[in-house]
Amino acid sequence: MQERKVRVRFAPSPTGPLHIGGVRTALYNYLFAKQHGGDFIFRIEDTDSTRFVPGAEDYIIESFRWLGITFDEGVSFGGNHGPYRQSERRDIYKQYVKQLLDAGKAYIAFDTPEELNAKREEIDNFQYDATTRLQMRNSLTLSSEEVEALIQSGHQYVVRFKIEPGRDVVVDDIIRGRVVINSSILDDKVLYKSADELPTYHLANIVDDHLMEVSHVIRGEEWLPSAPLHVLLYEAFGWADTMPRFAHLSLLLKPVGNGKLSKRDGDKLGFPVFPLEWHDPKSGEVSSGYREQGYLPQAVVNFLALLGWNPGEAHDEMMSLDDLVKYFDLSKCSKNGAKFDYVKAQWFNHQYLLQQTDEAWVPAFTDVLAQYGIASTPERMAEVVRMMKQKVIEYQTPQGETKKRNVSFVSDLMPLCRFFFEAPADFNREDKFIKKNWKESTAAEMAQFIDVLQTVTDFTVEGLKAVVDPWVEQAGLRPWNPWRICLVGAGLGPDMYELAAFLGKDETIRRMQYAISKLG
Ligand code: GLU
Repeated sequence: MQERKVRVRFAPSPTGPLHIGGVRTALYNYLFAKQHGGDFIFRIEDTDSTRFVPGAEDYIIESFRWLGITFDEGVSFGGNHGPYRQSERRDIYKQYVKQLLDAGKAYIAFDTPEELNAKREEIDNFQYDATTRLQMRNSLTLSSEEVEALIQSGHQYVVRFKIEPGRDVVVDDIIRGRVVINSSILDDKVLYKSADELPTYHLANIVDDHLMEVSHVIRGEEWLPSAPLHVLLYEAFGWADTMPRFAHLSLLLKPVGNGKLSKRDGDKLGFPVFPLEWHDPKSGEVSSGYREQGYLPQAVVNFLALLGWNPGEAHDEMMSLDDLVKYFDLSKCSKNGAKFDYVKAQWFNHQYLLQQTDEAWVPAFTDVLAQYGIASTPERMAEVVRMMKQKVIEYQTPQGETKKRNVSFVSDLMPLCRFFFEAPADFNREDKFIKKNWKESTAAEMAQFIDVLQTVTDFTVEGLKAVVDPWVEQAGLRPWNPWRICLVGAGLGPDMYELAAFLGKDETIRRMQYAISKLG
C-alpha cells in the first residue's frame, strides 16, 4: 500500500467537560501526528442533539490551549476539509446514506419504539439483524410503493445498515493486534434518523474520517466494540483501501481497587478528573480542574503521557512535549489499563515547579496570599519562594488524615509561609518545640541577643553572620531555636539568618521583644 500522509483526529462529542482520559487520547494523537510530520484535526461530533451541553465545545478548546496541545485543522482552527462540526454537515451525510440505500447495503425501517419493545418482549435477547429483520416493518418487507407512501405521509423512519451474517471481520489494531469478530453477533445499526435528519455517530464518524483523509484512528478502548462495524462500513462504501489504521488505547483505571477511573474516585481521593474547572450549566455543580488546582500544564502532559506508555531506557520520566514527540511510540502502548496514580501527578508538578524561576511562582502566590488577606511585593514573594520551595509540608487528605509531601502546588506554601508576612501573635506553651526550647533563662538571653543585633549595621545574611557567629561562640549560647520561636512562633521555617535578613532589623527586634513579653 502507498504511504499516506499521517492525518489523525480528536473527535469529542460536546456532552460535558472533557474527561482526563480524553485528554490523554488527544495527547497521543498529537504526539503521533507531530512525530510523523502529519496533521491533527479537531472535529466536533454533535449529531446526538439530546446530549448536547452548551459550553462544552469552548471548554474543550480552552483545555487544549492551556495544555499547549495544538491542532492544524478543525473547529476554530480552520482548514480545507470543513465544516468540522458534524451538525453542519447534514447534506453531506444524506448523500452517503443514499449511496448505501441505492446499493442495497442499507434499508429503511419504520418500526416504532412500541413495536421494537413488543419484539423485545417476544424474543429473548432480541437483536435487529439477519435473523429478525424480515419480521419487521422495513423496506425489505414492504413494497417500494408502501415505503414511499409511508414517507410521504410523514412517518418517521431510520436507515439501518444491512449486515451480512457469518463473516469474520478483522480489525487490525496497532496496539491490540488482530481482533476478529464474527458479523453474526452485530446488529443492523441505525445509521440515520429522519426525525432530526442527522446520521448517528457511526455513519458520521466513518464518512468524516474518509472525507477528511484520516490515516489513523487513535481512540479509547470503549470504541473497540464499534470497530468491526466501522470496518464493514468502509467496505460497504468501497473505501476499504483507504481505511484508517486503528489503535485502541487502554482504559485509565481507578487509583485503588478495580475498574475504570470515575469522577467519584477523584472526589473521594481529592484529585480532579477534568483539565479545567467545570461549571455544569444545568445542575450548577462545580467540578475541580487541574488548572485551578495549581497544576502546570507541562506536568499534566508529562504525567498523562506516561499512563499507558513509557520511553523504556531511552529517556527518564521527565519529558517535555518535544521529548514526547521524539520518543512516543504508539505501537508500544500498553494493552492493559493504567492505574491513575495521582500522587505521581503531584510529584511531577513539584518537579516542574522547581524547574521554573522563583519569579514565575509570583502571580499564583499573589492570589494565594490574597486569600489570607496578605499583600506583598513581587521581590519579597520570590524571596520567600526561594527559601521555602524545597520544604516538606503537611496536608490533610479528604479523609482527614495528615500526610506529608514536597511543596507540589504554589498554594502549598500557605499557611506554611505566613510568618514571613505576619508576626506571631500568640505562642502556644503546649507546643513541643516551644516547651523544649524556651527555658527560664531564655528571655534574658534573647534580650542580650537584641543588644547584639542592635550593633549590626549590614543586616544581610553575611552582615549578621559576621557579628552574630562570634558572639554565639564567645557567649557559649545556642540561641537558634529560641530565636526561631521569636520570629516564627514554631519550629519551622528557613535558615535563621535568611529569615532575619528578610524581615529586617526593626521587625526582627520587634518580634523578639514581643516574644519576651509574652513568654517571659
Ligand atoms: N465522538 C466520539 C467520542 O466522543 C469519537 C470516537 C472516535 O474517536 O471515533 O469520543
